[in-house]
Amino acid sequence: MAAAKYAFGIDLGGTTIKHGLFSADGELIEKWEIPTRSEENGKNVIPDIAASITAKLKEKKISTKDVIGIGIDVPGPVLENGIVNQCVNLGWGVTDVAAELSGLLDGIRVEACNDANAAALGEQWKGGGQGYQNAVMVTLGTGVGGGIILNGRILPGANGAGGEIGHIKVRDDEEDYCGCGKKGCLEQYTSANGITRMAHKYLDKTKKKTLLVNDDKLSSKKIFDAAKAGDEVSLAIIDDFGKTLGEALAGIAAVIDPEVFVIGGGVSKAGKIVLDVIQKYYKPAAFHACRNVVFKLAELGNDAGMYGAVKMVL
Ligand SMILES: [Zn+2]
Repeated sequence: MAAAKYAFGIDLGGTTIKHGLFSADGELIEKWEIPTRSEENGKNVIPDIAASITAKLKEKKISTKDVIGIGIDVPGPVLENGIVNQCVNLGWGVTDVAAELSGLLDGIRVEACNDANAAALGEQWKGGGQGYQNAVMVTLGTGVGGGIILNGRILPGANGAGGEIGHIKVRDDEEDYCGCGKKGCLEQYTSANGITRMAHKYLDKTKKKTLLVNDDKLSSKKIFDAAKAGDEVSLAIIDDFGKTLGEALAGIAAVIDPEVFVIGGGVSKAGKIVLDVIQKYYKPAAFHACRNVVFKLAELGNDAGMYGAVKMVL
């Protein structure tokens, strides 16, 4: 029998499910999306994915024997054995996604992981972390996500919470609650929403001239754009962001000792200024042996999860 030639990477999100058909050597052949039908506790989600893959196999005249495997990431904690430990926005309880999907697809091998961890693996494999075996991915989006890759493998942790860096407590004077129910979490200051929240607080009390307008259209993008234009208030706001995140990453480096930090998510679209302000505070705070870790921007955007998912089976 000839070696299997294809693999699938599935990025299961709350609104869409991204599918990628890959060659055995990891080249993306085709990608497409289907909507996530999360109603009725998400009971259609796995059958929908199976039907989508079955249709693609038929269209491409690929036999299930020619499929090496399917990697799937989900927006919730996933244990080392691939069991999803509840997935709130899909309405799932404890779900063995790998076994269920495999059962609908002729027993094809299926591996599952958390979405942030998949994005980290994707970036380490084909994106900003390419060429490094030990990477920490930091996703600065609505919240702060993370993923840890050691020797080319995801660190899921005992409870599937490995890499949940957004909920490291960094301040003890916080009055607002984080989405996790605690106060003072990293993501309250360094996510896109967190940066904007802190900017509102700053603008409420400053009398300095600034390009920023303190209204509900304020965004992290506007703050970084104004900082690039030399706006002092914006520079002070992003300096505070850089200090909080840079010092937190120095703490992570002392535990994980990665070769590279890959910074992704919407905030990272501001580019080099983000890496510069993080490193400004990372370096003095870092243990001497890991002071020269490399900082890179993520490169795969919304496809990172799909790449990381398929990498689990290649
Ligand atoms: Zn939190």
